[in-house]
Amino acid sequence: MDNNAAGQILLHQTSSRKRLDHKQDTICILGTGDFGRSLGIRLLKSGYPVVFGSRDPKNSVLLPSGAQVFSQAEALKTSKLIFLAVHRENYDFLLALSDLLDGKVLVDVSNNLRMNQYPESNAQYLSQLVPRANVVKGFNTVSAWALQSGSLDASSQVFVCGDDNKSKQLVMDVARSIGLTPLDQGYLLAAEELESYPLQLFPMWRLPFIITAGLTVFFFLYHVVLRIIYSYVNKNVDQTYQIMISIPNHVFPSVCLILLGLVYLPGVIAAFLQLHRGTKYKRFPNWLDKWMLCRKQLGLVSFAYGFLHVFYSLVKPLRYSFYWRSAQYAASVMKSNATSEMEMKWVWRSDLFYAFGILGFFVFCLLGVTSLPSVSNAMNWREFRFVQSKLGHVTLLLCTAHTAVLGWNKFLKPTVYKWGLPPGYLLSMVIPCIVLVLKLILITPCVDRMVTRIRQGWERKGRDLGKVNI
Ligand code: NAP
Repeated sequence: MDNNAAGQILLHQTSSRKRLDHKQDTICILGTGDFGRSLGIRLLKSGYPVVFGSRDPKNSVLLPSGAQVFSQAEALKTSKLIFLAVHRENYDFLLALSDLLDGKVLVDVSNNLRMNQYPESNAQYLSQLVPRANVVKGFNTVSAWALQSGSLDASSQVFVCGDDNKSKQLVMDVARSIGLTPLDQGYLLAAEELESYPLQLFPMWRLPFIITAGLTVFFFLYHVVLRIIYSYVNKNVDQTYQIMISIPNHVFPSVCLILLGLVYLPGVIAAFLQLHRGTKYKRFPNWLDKWMLCRKQLGLVSFAYGFLHVFYSLVKPLRYSFYWRSAQYAASVMKSNATSEMEMKWVWRSDLFYAFGILGFFVFCLLGVTSLPSVSNAMNWREFRFVQSKLGHVTLLLCTAHTAVLGWNKFLKPTVYKWGLPPGYLLSMVIPCIVLVLKLILITPCVDRMVTRIRQGWERKGRDLGKVNI
């Protein structure tokens, strides 16, 4: 065994022993509500003696067996580590107990009802209230239900912050012992951010959701106008049945393609910005930063729309309108007694259309799979970049080709511009085509070389942005 391995084992044993030592220490929980009880159950299961401090110890019910319950003052005397499982509004009862909290570790687990509810974080407020206690913020992102049921997979991370390192380590050790993963977030100043985590509602999904909803509504109305209203006004034909399958099957691929283009557009804009500025050491504008951060979400929504498009396309031949039309066509050929030749141009066109669609969807599935944390964690940075960037652009190319073949040369015929409006598929190709053209410029050897140099830290001479490397 080499020295390194021996050192690792020794370190592990020391830390396990340290954790076992802590298990000897009683832990006090103030508050016998949902969170206090759930935490108590979890601590007891992990071997910690638990003492509850309650306003009314005699009438405290539903407490886990094995735990003791005292008055708040009595409970505080039994432990140097106290979890405060009480809402912030009730913290002032601690003022009368501040002597008993002298030098003790007080864990603030509280959350608020909304963002910016108070001028300072709950943990900072607590620290001002009992300045002689070592306040640590933590456990607020773990729910009482998860603690009690043990299903901590999705929320096993415990963010911890505090000004006293030893106290923070003690809390982190306890978290580890009950199967959680503590993450040190620094000083108590970070408590404000920690308290905002449970209040966030899909923050990274907001922008993708707004864009998707906007595009979906737009394309749906656009197709209703072009397919239903136009037919009714100009030909007096009722095409309203298209609302259920045909129109959605035009909306989903259009939105899917635009969203996929939007996943890769910020990357190329960023590259051109860097080229223009001649440096990577200058912040991108805020809107570009935000856009880059939600690329994964945009991609996933695009993938979901692609999936819907596949399902909607598969049911096409099962529709009554489809086989009615096929039967009408066969009858008309028979009636006219004409021989109908297979047109090679159309064979190629339809096969190309489906081939691009199938391949595009297949590579898109690969992208979707590699965005799963369990898969992406198994890849190194280069592999991940290869899949998400190179294969991503290939997906965009195949899906754009799939759409272009659908339109073929129709865009040259003035009759497709109903009321002067371009067909939906043409609109959906604008952003992807811009991305592909810009990407093509970026991968030309001389531009690519320049972008690579800039991304390795090189700066163009004469810039007023500080150091010039070459
Ligand atoms: P809860 O069920 O309402 O329990 C709060 C407990 O605080 C009460 O049972 C009571 O215990 C004590 N209390 C109530 N009024 C008090 C007062 N005036 N003075 C002193 N103590 C008082 O609330 P909870 O769900 O357990 O939440 C407790 C804390 O954990 C909150 O800060 C919450 O934000 C945080 N938290 C909760 C969850 C969750 O899933 N529930 C998750 C993360 C964080 P006694 O009657 O025994 O004194």
